Amino acid sequence: MKIEKAADLGFCFGVKRALATLEEVARQKGGVETLGALVHNQQVMARLNGLGVKVVKDISEITGDTVVISSHGVGPKVLEAIRERGIGIVDTTCPFVQRAQKAAHRLAEAGFFTLIYGDVNHPEVKGILGWAEGRGLATLASEDLENVELSRHLGLLSQTTQVPARFIEFAKAATEKALVKDAELRIVDTVCHDIRLRQAATLSLAARADLMLVIGGHHSANTRHLVELCSPLTATYLVETADEIDPAWLEGRDLIGVTAGASTAPETIEAVVRRLEELGSIGEYQTAAYRSQ
Ligand code: SF4
Repeated sequence: MKIEKAADLGFCFGVKRALATLEEVARQKGGVETLGALVHNQQVMARLNGLGVKVVKDISEITGDTVVISSHGVGPKVLEAIRERGIGIVDTTCPFVQRAQKAAHRLAEAGFFTLIYGDVNHPEVKGILGWAEGRGLATLASEDLENVELSRHLGLLSQTTQVPARFIEFAKAATEKALVKDAELRIVDTVCHDIRLRQAATLSLAARADLMLVIGGHHSANTRHLVELCSPLTATYLVETADEIDPAWLEGRDLIGVTAGASTAPETIEAVVRRLEELGSIGEYQTAAYRSQ
């Protein structure tokens, strides 16, 4: 049994940057609060908890003099409300997310309505909608467009972690609906560069592998997308930790592909690879013992 890791996997640029900043602040201050979880990964959050990092869900719950904004970012009204309470802000919003926020803000200032291809319940999308100044809508279903009156001045963006090909399909559906007399459409490609690389590397490995293991949080959007991309190509399982691997999955498989979401820590990936190696050698031993009988 051969184990191969995708060429790009695990912590992305934005998560590494946010973690480095948060850890430094937590060490300096002996602990700090973050508004929302920094990443959607239990193992990473448990480690941060050990450094005194506490997650608050709402501004009203902040007890310290400083709060850390996660890599997903927030809308301008949230920043304003924090400042009004005299609380200092350490902003770790990823530059790729900031790019989407600025695009929404520019569109709003130019009188455009912003349509976001994304999950309306995800903190990043809520933040981008905030920058659209109340003139925006987010959805992942192009059928939803049937029920809305689209503005003749329409801007289109994507949540940074969406699958590019699906954003293109969504943009085609929106274009068909929006292009009426005198309409003006502005499409901004806000899919994150790191996510593109990870999805491409995962697809190329899944095309050759007999089994793909995707490592990441069950609530992580970009991890779930990796599962969705691999599933039509080969047998695919999502695991959060090495303990979740079922040895029966490996039976009769020659090449096991391993990939991981952008918020999965390197130590979690290495633990999964070590467990696969152990199970692989047990499998070889059992096969050899069976042959010698
Ligand atoms: S996935 Fe992309 S946009 Fe999101 S934090 Fe990572 S680098 Fe930034």
